[in-house]
Amino acid sequence: MSKEELFEKFKEELEEMTHLKMAIAILDWDQQVFMPKKGAEMRAKTIANLIGILHEKFVAKDFENLLLKIKKLSDSKKLNDNEKCIFREVWREFSREKKMSVEFVRELAEVCSTAHNIWAEAKKKSDFSIFLPYLKKIVELKRKEAKFVGFKKNPYDALLDTYEPYMTTEEISVIFEDLKKFLVSFLKKIKKSKVKINPDILKGNFPIKKQIDLNRLVAEKIGFNFDAGRLDVSAHPFTTSFNAQDVRITTKYAMDDFLNSLSTTIHEAGHAMYEQGILMENFGTPLGESISLGIHESQSKIWENFVGKGKPFWKYFFPKLQKKFPHPFSQIKFDDFYEAINHVSPSFIRTDADEITYNLHIIMRFEIEKELIDGSIEAEDLPKIWNAKFQEYFGIKVPSDSLGVLQDVHWSGGLIGYFPTYALGNFYSAQFYQTAKKDIKDLEDKFSKGQFGQFREWLKANIHIHGKLYSANELVKKVTGENLNSKYFIDYIENKYSEIYNI
Ligand code: MG
Repeated sequence: MSKEELFEKFKEELEEMTHLKMAIAILDWDQQVFMPKKGAEMRAKTIANLIGILHEKFVAKDFENLLLKIKKLSDSKKLNDNEKCIFREVWREFSREKKMSVEFVRELAEVCSTAHNIWAEAKKKSDFSIFLPYLKKIVELKRKEAKFVGFKKNPYDALLDTYEPYMTTEEISVIFEDLKKFLVSFLKKIKKSKVKINPDILKGNFPIKKQIDLNRLVAEKIGFNFDAGRLDVSAHPFTTSFNAQDVRITTKYAMDDFLNSLSTTIHEAGHAMYEQGILMENFGTPLGESISLGIHESQSKIWENFVGKGKPFWKYFFPKLQKKFPHPFSQIKFDDFYEAINHVSPSFIRTDADEITYNLHIIMRFEIEKELIDGSIEAEDLPKIWNAKFQEYFGIKVPSDSLGVLQDVHWSGGLIGYFPTYALGNFYSAQFYQTAKKDIKDLEDKFSKGQFGQFREWLKANIHIHGKLYSANELVKKVTGENLNSKYFIDYIENKYSEIYNI
């Protein structure tokens, strides 16, 4: 076989496996959006079987032989940049998967799929003991996974690496320590501020049908393509992509709160536009996949916060909001509205948190997970540890496990090592946004006129279309001229909130 034929065969194999992955993703989307409760047990088995088949295909001798031939081409420097990326990323994943047995992969998939509904029940009843046996099992399996995969310094590295490739626990610990110091002291200044903001002016009675219209209008205006996507409802909002032409997002609605569902929709639309911006010609290879969860989250945060909680965005949308919901908004002044949507106040639920305290939620989960995986603490200790840390960082007492340790879906899905990527997303987005402001003339003026296209195209050209061609850090350097630097996020927070709170 010539080099070209060999590589073509390699891509065909990858594409076949990607189709299987997409089928699993559709089953998962259906489970979260439409499936009746009783379907859970069999769905768990179906998904676990398909994941097992996929794993077997991936680590099969045939595929390994093919991969080794490509490796030879790579070692003798016969691959171009795109091919190098495809090989590098598949080899990375292959080396990881090869260390895990099919039985282990199936067991983990099945436990996690079943645990989803158990967690939902435990959360509803605020009873940690319902979830505990499953969580113990998941922690045990994730510790095993870290051992199988291997790590240099910290077992948590082995898990983190799935979500934020090439990033280490140590690097994150350093960034988070600095951030924690800044956030805690800045929060104190906000508490002492004489500016009192009343977020209750945002409360009202907002019929769901009208909210759906508003969410669709905003998502479409900022660039989510409804011909290549859907917006639905689920308990835990998320984005999933089957390919760039079919990207699904969800949100959730509450009658008395329009802002939460709208912010969620903008957030998920940001994720979705990343997926819609990927080149179809790269489907099935790492060039058609996002870089990391941190970079993915940067695309949601940049829209949700930097755009969607900013003055220019609302200069354009506030009159439309007033028209849609004259009560209460026709009576509210723009500046009061802007302050209300940005008011800072420690609260229990991460997904409802403001831009400042949000990161403390993440830092806390990172610290807990790290110790859970290295064995310093056990699953049964979690409520106690959670509540104590929460009191220390936020200064408020957690009233129940559903508002505390049970609030997030992640652990039930085995997603340990995932949380830090949320905060990394904030740092990446701050750095990207700063560069976009330099690159695009009058960027924020454009937002206030309802013009979002140029910004969206900038994100697409600089980030989306590259797929995994660059690592997260290489991309940040390429786009912004320097390595990841949390100073941009800290500057952004200081500037924005010093103005709001007159600090
Ligand atoms: Mg997100």
